[in-house]
Amino acid sequence: MIGNRGQPGDLKGRLRRAQAIGVSSAAGEPLALALAVLDDQIRRWDSPTTAALSALLVAGAAERREAQRYPLLDVPAATAALAEETARVARSPLATGTSPAPLAESRAAVAALEPEARTALVAAWGDDVTMVDPRLGFWVQVAAGPALELAAATVGAPDPQEWRGAACPLCGGLPQVSVISERPGDLLGGAPRSLVCGRCTTWWAFSRVTCPSCGEDNPDRIPNHLVDGLGWVRIDGCDTCGGYIKTFDLREDASREVVPLVDDVASLTLDVWATSRGLSRPVRSLAGV
Ligand SMILES: [Zn+2]
Ligand SMILES: [Zn+2]
Repeated sequence: MIGNRGQPGDLKGRLRRAQAIGVSSAAGEPLALALAVLDDQIRRWDSPTTAALSALLVAGAAERREAQRYPLLDVPAATAALAEETARVARSPLATGTSPAPLAESRAAVAALEPEARTALVAAWGDDVTMVDPRLGFWVQVAAGPALELAAATVGAPDPQEWRGAACPLCGGLPQVSVISERPGDLLGGAPRSLVCGRCTTWWAFSRVTCPSCGEDNPDRIPNHLVDGLGWVRIDGCDTCGGYIKTFDLREDASREVVPLVDDVASLTLDVWATSRGLSRPVRSLAGV
């Protein structure tokens, strides 16, 4: 559903949540960055460029869905145009105004790339974000976010019967966080867990007791760790691959205002704890962890 908990197209919902948590919180610096990114992306949301990029991504999606070929969005077809948008964003006021030092350096690096190298960067990012330096990938994500979200909202997420894989069915991205929530239509499914894409923000159904990184499904090997006083967010670790993912339990009363992609940034202490236990996350948060 669009406009719900920061799902595709709900940029303003994420902005409101980041403002509500506040940059004076413990995660102030990454939240300020998230606000600057969202502000920039909201300004580009209605632009002809975003519409044109989204059209490239969406072309052929209905046929792919009919043939059950995933991901549904054609990221390779949009790569050259996304590279141009990345160049524009890397020269924008957001980029020059509010970036912490490491991102200011990567901004300059992206802005200075020759067109061919920039297209290669975007192509690699589209293929597998973990293969790209996260500081460079950050600028591709800022640039591509609005078009990917518009395209994802246009095409719509598959229902749980269609897709339960570990990669995003819309853009092929990796899950950023996971969510437990009651959803209409899940009454018989018994596993109301979703993964949330870090690129196009789509939510899709996924097995409750499986590691999304390696597929481990032995419950003894994927312990979850709760944090005192925070019943609505936990770390799901994996003893097999050493990965972890943050899971937000949206059935908890205290989680009523939680917007997973924003609260991911705000719950940095959990990442620090997980890292201290030797766990790592495949997809970094905006906080850079
Ligand atoms: Zn996606
Ligand atoms: Zn694993």
